[in-house]
Amino acid sequence: MKGLVKFEKGFSGVKLTEIKSKALSEKELLVKIHAAGICGTDLHIMADEYPYTPPVVLGHEYSGIVVEVGSEVLDFAIGDRVVSLTAASTCGKCVYCDQGLLMLCKEKQSIGSQIDGAFAEYITIPEKIAFKIPDEVSLDEAALTEPLACAVRCIMERGNVQGGDLVLVSGPGTIGMLALLVAKANGGRVIVAGTKADHERLAFAKKLGAIETVVIDGEESMQRVMENYSIDVAIECAGHENSLDNCIHLLKKQGNLIQMGLFGKDIKFNSDLVLMKELHYSNGFATEPTSWRIALNLLENKLVDVGPLISNRVELSDWERGIQLVKDKVGYKTLLIPNK
Ligand SMILES: [Zn+2]
Ligand SMILES: [Zn+2]
Repeated sequence: MKGLVKFEKGFSGVKLTEIKSKALSEKELLVKIHAAGICGTDLHIMADEYPYTPPVVLGHEYSGIVVEVGSEVLDFAIGDRVVSLTAASTCGKCVYCDQGLLMLCKEKQSIGSQIDGAFAEYITIPEKIAFKIPDEVSLDEAALTEPLACAVRCIMERGNVQGGDLVLVSGPGTIGMLALLVAKANGGRVIVAGTKADHERLAFAKKLGAIETVVIDGEESMQRVMENYSIDVAIECAGHENSLDNCIHLLKKQGNLIQMGLFGKDIKFNSDLVLMKELHYSNGFATEPTSWRIALNLLENKLVDVGPLISNRVELSDWERGIQLVKDKVGYKTLLIPNK
């Protein structure tokens, strides 16, 4: 089968190539990939900015159909539509594993960075990390369960949005839109903030249910927002120093600051102001099994509609174009389609 493999350092170390399928062990599933979303993490791995163990098939946001089951698989059958957790292998006996906090296990290995991922025709996964896709959810939508679960982890499990809260989402990219949808599903009234370059994205945020959008381009615009709104929760989704600074300044005293974006480097921020405003700070490292259950529940019950975020569907053979669409910020989620 064909798979997109990171072999070695450099962008030239990424190749679509023929890979051997491994024999299925007793508790594994062979899943035919329906669609696999390109994530910022994939770009970071391609650029050697995120840890990975080569050679490895990239991709961790996917949906698919079970086509073969190991001899001891109990809960899945051929034909089941599935998604799966990213942390495919953990020690199973440390203090974090005990609590179901798989991302925090020292021996964690994830699909798409240490274990072969989803930018391929098929993926082999242990049964224990798979979740069935509810009938009400399409396979395309289900491919966005992973990033949705990241938003759930940050906003519902580690952070907290109460009904009626005024929530500021800073950064109107795919992560920001998912944050908007999850905050709204929890009863938040959401304002989305961006820069001058974000006009189209801010208009889209309104369509998705933001009560207001604001362009923040300096002192005056900040002042205007502070005079007009008392922000209960600010969610940093851009992974940008200025965006974090805006969140800290715009939050009301004792407000909740949630970091969803990754900065990819050391940054400066006004920690004294965080103290003087008595802000609460939280974040989330990808997803845990609990986040997936909540995310699938939100999709099943139509509390969140990720459909409008799917902008591009690109065949796996045309993966370089798919990557370019993400780099050029064309639309929101780009899905790679490995099987016709
Ligand atoms: Zn991702
Ligand atoms: Zn462990």
